[in-house]
Amino acid sequence: MSDAIRHVLIVGGGSAGWLAAAVIAADHGPESGLQVTLLESPDVGPIGVGEGTWPTMRDTLRRIGLPEAELFKRCDASFKQGSRFDGWLSGAPGDHYHHPFVLPQGYTEANLAAAWLAQHAEVPFADLVSFQPHLCAQGRAPKQATTPEYAAVANYGYHFDAGKFGLMLREHCTQVLGVRHLLGHMVGVDSHDNGDIAAVRTTEQGAVSADLFVDCTGLAALLLAGHYGVGWVPQHHVLFNDRALAAQVPYPRDDSPIASQTIATAQPLGWTWDIGLPTRRGVGHVYSSAHASDDEVERALREHIRRTGGPDDIATPRRLSFRPGYRQQFWHRNCVAVGLAAGFVEPLEASALALAELSAAQISDEMPATRATMDIVARRFNDSFTYRWERVIDFLKLHYALTQRRDTAYWRDHVDPATWPARLQELLALWQHRAPSRHDFTRAEELFPSASYQYVLFGMGFRPAPGAYARRADRAEVADGFFREAAQLTRRMLPALPDNRTLIEHVRRHGMLRV
Ligand SMILES: Cc1cc2nc3c(=O)[nH]c(=O)nc-3n(C[C@H](O)[C@H](O)[C@H](O)COP(=O)(O)OP(=O)(O)OC[C@H]3O[C@@H](n4cnc5c(N)ncnc54)[C@H](O)[C@@H]3O)c2cc1C
Repeated sequence: MSDAIRHVLIVGGGSAGWLAAAVIAADHGPESGLQVTLLESPDVGPIGVGEGTWPTMRDTLRRIGLPEAELFKRCDASFKQGSRFDGWLSGAPGDHYHHPFVLPQGYTEANLAAAWLAQHAEVPFADLVSFQPHLCAQGRAPKQATTPEYAAVANYGYHFDAGKFGLMLREHCTQVLGVRHLLGHMVGVDSHDNGDIAAVRTTEQGAVSADLFVDCTGLAALLLAGHYGVGWVPQHHVLFNDRALAAQVPYPRDDSPIASQTIATAQPLGWTWDIGLPTRRGVGHVYSSAHASDDEVERALREHIRRTGGPDDIATPRRLSFRPGYRQQFWHRNCVAVGLAAGFVEPLEASALALAELSAAQISDEMPATRATMDIVARRFNDSFTYRWERVIDFLKLHYALTQRRDTAYWRDHVDPATWPARLQELLALWQHRAPSRHDFTRAEELFPSASYQYVLFGMGFRPAPGAYARRADRAEVADGFFREAAQLTRRMLPALPDNRTLIEHVRRHGMLRV
């Protein structure tokens, strides 16, 4: 066995597998002496859901050299500027808040939360500090037709058709980036004497050997869990959801508006996502099998679709199940898991593809030149991603923990502090005295910045004692200046930005300005 890492084999051709292949091949490529091969089973398809992304996807697509317009032309993509949460606080009519992708105006320069609480608490926090909720409420696009590709007027990610996204990445990987593509169903593993994987055995291709194996086999995690038996850190006691129903819903008209944010609506038995693509909506209901039956939820989903303008007769929704949690280790010996093989908790806030992007980037950035250094890289990777999964879980639980809903056992169980992670409990205690801040999230690449916690915390009705956030150094006029700036930006941007559908159709026909 040679010590140099010359061949990376990615096992699995879902979104995670193709993203990992693309990032590693774009960064290294055959000319740098690293061959990337992707093996996928002809018998097992990708999961085919996962339609919401973060702004990180813009960086990833740029990094792999994919023209942005391709995404719109080939993947039924639309712009996403964050999420709107309907009914999460009380479930009363009109109950909603925004979690936009832009930071509050002047976020690092003033104590905005204190000034908001002292003088403007009747206005929703996000609506006061940011222009983006107003763009979303008016269905605006986040840029103009003349804005260059990947650049933004308002920060954005995408909604897209997950199946088409995988096919586009496959073509780009194989035709542009030099990734070798093999169709073969993995049936076993050959090992070196030291316990490293030497090759995976397949029915169609025989044994495929490599130096580093990336397990992208989805929820089955055939290498990391199946072969190595790496354990699972279950999160069912914190995030109860373990089922989803997914449906595709036609628009009433060809020119129906396309929402420029994900709409997450709290339901008695869980929550529904609503993602607007140019040709259809993707709508699904997430729930907990301990709290609801599949049939009850299907009835609730159909009712929700009817209430939101969809037809009575959608096709039978797809049923998906998962175990919320993540792996005890993500990188073990010469095998690293990316995507669902590494973990999955639930679709809220669409963190799964972002974690896959970050994993692919870290593997590529830290690609060990030799086997001798791989264990060091693996240890650091495991530390980073354990931390990231823990933060995802804290952040997602925050969406549930403060609800005032008591309509079902599902929501009543979520407010029980015994189901809250210890670190979230500590943070909630600290936030009685000061707003979420950079001191709470100190790593270089935090998944959710403290501003995201402010949006959700205050959106969910959290209010500290009067004056608790005030500091002697605060100058109310500075914060007020930023509130005015957000309002001015709103006034300027609303008439200057096209609506979401108009810009998407323009991009599909004419492309985007390339620089
Ligand atoms: C209900 C739901 C909603 C979601 N919504 C979002 C969202 O909005 N945003 C987001 O970021 N994420 C979302 N996700 C997560 C997202 O779907 C996944 O992170 C993403 O699709 C990546 O999946 P994957 O590539 O890891 O696995 P998969 O798509 O399952 O791919 C597994 C691959 O492994 C291969 N394979 C399996 N067995 C073998 C074998 N024996 N030999 C060879 N190959 C094999 C298969 O051929 C396939 O190519 C959602 C997930 C669920 C369940």
